[in-house]
Amino acid sequence: MAGRLSPMPTVAEIVKLYRLSAKRQLSQNFLLDMNINRKLVKAAGRITNGHVCEVGPGPGGITRAILDKHVEHVVVIEKDSRFIPSLQSLSRESNNRVRVILGDVLYFDMSRLFPEELISSWEEDPPNIHIIGNLPFNVATPLIIRYLESISKQTSVWRYGRVRMTLTFQKEVADRMVSPILTNERCRLSAMCQNWCHVTRKFEIPGSAFVPKPKVDVGVVHFLPRIKPMIPLPFKLVEKVCKHVFHHRNKKLLFGMKTLFPPDLHYLAEESLRITDIPEDTRSYMLTLSELGRLCSVYSDICEEYAHVFAYDYRSQEGQKLIRDDRYRRRQQREGQ
Ligand code: SAM
Repeated sequence: MAGRLSPMPTVAEIVKLYRLSAKRQLSQNFLLDMNINRKLVKAAGRITNGHVCEVGPGPGGITRAILDKHVEHVVVIEKDSRFIPSLQSLSRESNNRVRVILGDVLYFDMSRLFPEELISSWEEDPPNIHIIGNLPFNVATPLIIRYLESISKQTSVWRYGRVRMTLTFQKEVADRMVSPILTNERCRLSAMCQNWCHVTRKFEIPGSAFVPKPKVDVGVVHFLPRIKPMIPLPFKLVEKVCKHVFHHRNKKLLFGMKTLFPPDLHYLAEESLRITDIPEDTRSYMLTLSELGRLCSVYSDICEEYAHVFAYDYRSQEGQKLIRDDRYRRRQQREGQ
């Protein structure tokens, strides 16, 4: 087992030494307090002897906390080349337990990052492989949507099994991810995250702990992929239904449901609510995942019957024209009566 790191310059000294001033355009906010870095790594669970992929290591504070846990191997993926020399020096210090990759996590293929013998079946306990990171907020949210899609297909790093993630988000986003039904924060993200993962909010980091200080506080969220999603349907289909239903959060469900269908098929929105036994005046934040699943399932059946429905986008020019034509047709009908 690899030992503890020999004394090295502190992360703050590294930042100074390599002149690593935070780039505002990359939303860089560093965590230089090693107690917080250790707490974040602890939130990932037992990682000793494990394998970790750290996204956005920056000056390497979290990387050090990961190495201190005696992991076998940590792969770090960093977009900003200024951090590479100090990360490589950390790698040398740690008997090459750090593999440094200059790349963009949003486009990086993680499917072959770890030894093949670590692959475990989806139903087994999760493998000792973890994703950990403190990314900028504007990257973390699209990233989690991509990762949920990979989880749903068991691709990318999830071909190794139910790999867990511990990531930071803007506090409000972290709150939304874990919020149950009937709360103000319940939204598309809550339903999507909770459908494919057991999601836990671990702790908060005040904005003042970062250098430079962001305007918001931060929440640390842990994701464990579910063996079976609550809604066992294709990601794109569930995503589309969630997007439409939650877009009009405070309106009656029927309103959002109608936007899934071209005007001549709007009656299918009412039909869907009738078949699923969901009252028309339900609001999206009241929907349980089981009710949402019933709606997705009916929508999926309809898409099979009417091949053009899934591709229909009411916000596209064509969709808006269909809506205008339909309004015009109905006005003509009313006036002719
Ligand atoms: N982990 C370090 C810490 O906690 O001090 C740095 C955190 S800083 C909020 C985010 C880091 O992610 C920066 O180093 C930034 O360059 C990097 N980053 C931003 N977008 C990225 C992307 N798309 N792919 C990889 N790294 C990215």
